Amino acid sequence: MNATDAEDWFVVSGVFEDQVEEEILGSFKVDADTFTVAKATAYKCPRCWKFQSKKEECACKRCEEVIVSTGLDSSKTQTDEKALA
Ligand SMILES: [Zn+2]
Repeated sequence: MNATDAEDWFVVSGVFEDQVEEEILGSFKVDADTFTVAKATAYKCPRCWKFQSKKEECACKRCEEVIVSTGLDSSKTQTDEKALA
């Protein structure tokens, strides 16, 4: 399982192997592994709801790449709609 799969599996914003410095909310054990749950410090991405955005109301890095590669940029879509009207 890679880090992104683990994020979706646990419905969290990030999975790290290192000890976190953020506020710790709790922890649990799965077999020999101990998982610590900590509060996310980044902003919530409006697309995937993970707390990975650098700014409020902005897409995270991963979503931004998808938006750019699929041409789903909202400002561009608005311009296209205006052209059709
Ligand atoms: Zn996102």
